[in-house]
Amino acid sequence: MSDTGGREYLAIPGPSVMPDRVLAAMHRPAPNIYEGALHEMTATLIPDLKYVARTEGHAAIYISNGHGAWEAALANVLNPGDRVLMPATGRFGHGWAEMAEGLGAGVEMIDFGTSRPLDPNRVEEALRADHEGRIKAVIATHVDTSSSVRNDMAGLRAAIDAAGHGAILMADCIASMGCDRFEMDDWGVDVAVTASQKGLMVPPGLGFVFFNDRAIKARARVERVSRYWDWGPRANPEIYYQYFGGTAPTHHLFALREALNMIREEGIEAIWARHARNARAIWAACEAWGQEGPLTLNIRDRAHRSHAVTALRIGLPHGPRLRRWVQDHAGLTLGIGLGMSEPGDEKGEGFFRMGHMGHVNTQMIMGLLGGVEAGFAALDIPRGGGALAAAAAELARVEG
Ligand SMILES: *Cc1c(COP(=O)(O)O)cnc(C)c1O
Repeated sequence: MSDTGGREYLAIPGPSVMPDRVLAAMHRPAPNIYEGALHEMTATLIPDLKYVARTEGHAAIYISNGHGAWEAALANVLNPGDRVLMPATGRFGHGWAEMAEGLGAGVEMIDFGTSRPLDPNRVEEALRADHEGRIKAVIATHVDTSSSVRNDMAGLRAAIDAAGHGAILMADCIASMGCDRFEMDDWGVDVAVTASQKGLMVPPGLGFVFFNDRAIKARARVERVSRYWDWGPRANPEIYYQYFGGTAPTHHLFALREALNMIREEGIEAIWARHARNARAIWAACEAWGQEGPLTLNIRDRAHRSHAVTALRIGLPHGPRLRRWVQDHAGLTLGIGLGMSEPGDEKGEGFFRMGHMGHVNTQMIMGLLGGVEAGFAALDIPRGGGALAAAAAELARVEG
């Protein structure tokens, strides 16, 4: 609880801020799930989801969080004993790979650490070495939310093609879809997964799997997919309940309908541009603070940074004190560091993250940065000056 009154801001990388329109859309009685308006509305979600993913492919909706979408995607394309290649750039890459292991797949890991993007050349080499074609999928995070690195998915496709390898390309877009430019079809991504609570601005609880015809071919060689995870009936339901393998997540669907209305109204290109501008403002402030004192951005090169989340290091004792201060006195919650140290190592407390995904505008970015500036001042943490002015200068570059 904050002692300040006013509206609180959960500036973590998901769940993201929910628009009032989305919240209001859920405030209604339960609908008839057997016929009528709910059925018609559900059908309208699919083209709009595909608009956000930039695909002409297929979309399946699951009642799950992102981990469920991870498992759903893998369960449709892997037999036990198949191999997957994971070029990991943070905790979420390792997490998805562990999911594949849990399904009986063998994981070939290329670990790029936590502060740089993956190198497609290394992936190409690994695929060239796979003479027997045992690797069935290259799985990668577009944005790894723990490190806030953004990876080159088109480059990964080029690497697979250059190696002349038949593996499909699967992308975790949970932190990036609706925030960072993502072009599923143009970039040659075969399977993309996302979840409701980040760029899509809906409460946690829906997972989405997008897949193309190449992925359908991969699905055809899988001996057994559980009824619940099978994407076939969900993407091409003959009767309504097949969309969700049971009762529809009614109020999440109302929320999603409204969020997609908002995305359509703003336009996906404009949304990407807004996220880029907000991210540049945050980087400018953090780079200014970092001129003197302990704050550093985890990803040094701007070209490899996410536009939706920024991972920072400030060290001990500042990290936990700053997070506590802004939580208690500024109505602001920052994200904890994730995957930046060994579990149990208290140095991990010296990291934190700013979430700036989804329903976030200029005054919220300045509020986030201003809250942190107040925390720095209150705690007397050494820092460079001019951070807020640098952020404002970035935000002032609005066209029109
Ligand atoms: C949030 C996130 C996940 C996990 O999603 P949950 O809904 O917490 O299961 C996985 N991958 C990435 C890149 C994420 O940002």
